[in-house]
Amino acid sequence: MKKTLVLLLSICLILNLSACVKENTTNNENISQTVSNTDTSSQQNNTSSLTNSKAPTTPEKPKKPSNSSVNTPTSQPDTPKENFILPAIVDTYQEKYRPNYLLGNCKKLKGNPLVVLLFIDDDESSWSANEVTEYTDKYIKEGLAYLEDKAKEWDVDLKFTIKSYSTPLSDYTLRYEGSVIKDLRINGSSKDVLEQAAHDMGYSSNWELYSKFKTERKSDDDVIFLTFLNKAGKSYARHIISTGQTSNSEHCVIFSSYLEGESFGCKASTVADEVLHLFGAEDYYDGYRELLATALYPKDVMLWMPKEAYENEIGEFTAYTVGWTDTIPQICYNEYWWK
Ligand SMILES: [Zn+2]
Repeated sequence: MKKTLVLLLSICLILNLSACVKENTTNNENISQTVSNTDTSSQQNNTSSLTNSKAPTTPEKPKKPSNSSVNTPTSQPDTPKENFILPAIVDTYQEKYRPNYLLGNCKKLKGNPLVVLLFIDDDESSWSANEVTEYTDKYIKEGLAYLEDKAKEWDVDLKFTIKSYSTPLSDYTLRYEGSVIKDLRINGSSKDVLEQAAHDMGYSSNWELYSKFKTERKSDDDVIFLTFLNKAGKSYARHIISTGQTSNSEHCVIFSSYLEGESFGCKASTVADEVLHLFGAEDYYDGYRELLATALYPKDVMLWMPKEAYENEIGEFTAYTVGWTDTIPQICYNEYWWK
């Protein structure tokens, strides 16, 4: 039945493609070029997943984050750094129907991943203590709690631990030199947001920063970097999409509000969408795939940005791409899904 519907849609809607809004690009930029300890033989690329987010509302008095489903952020520096730089990751494995899965350092969206929040100032924007606290409580924790709850629906245990760093609330000055590019569709993306943050925190590279958090973990759980800019822009995930060697950490660059003229959605959904990208999820914003996804997964977080995160669903293909199930969804056998 689904197959027939899909085929029908594939054929009937082909002429309407111009109406689709392209909100996702793959720019194949090599993320190694901005990193000081890069092996030049590195073959990794990155994909940029574009989402929107809304401007923060008026800041309130600072308060301690209180979402019980996510651990409380900390804001102080951790143990002094030692010689703990991890060897480069070498990826040789790429699956046919989820080619972005298991590539790069974000491999396991389960267990107890550490989420490192980095609130970054630049030449155009800065974060106040109130804004950091409010943004964390209202959007980041909700987006992460949403993922925890959705994981349960797929019988996956997932509980995030958060650490948070910002100029007003920690001992670091996190300031990007220059302006982080707001619209990568026009100007390309800033590839060195995490790299500069690593330098600000006293590390020689983003890989050293990643190694520090990773080696401090008691378990083999992943480390996820989310960077936030307090200005309008197109959010994206710097996710490794090809096999090879990498000593750069995957991360997201998330803007606090929308660019002018863009549709509004829920910022918690943006956070969820971008985190999912790091683990292999793919947007459904393009061409045939958008048409098919609209029919099969109309509320999927990789397709639609609702007003409330919990209106989103995580369909079988999205779940498959991040490893929440290993059952190949039927849609994978539809050639139009890949066009
Ligand atoms: Zn996306």
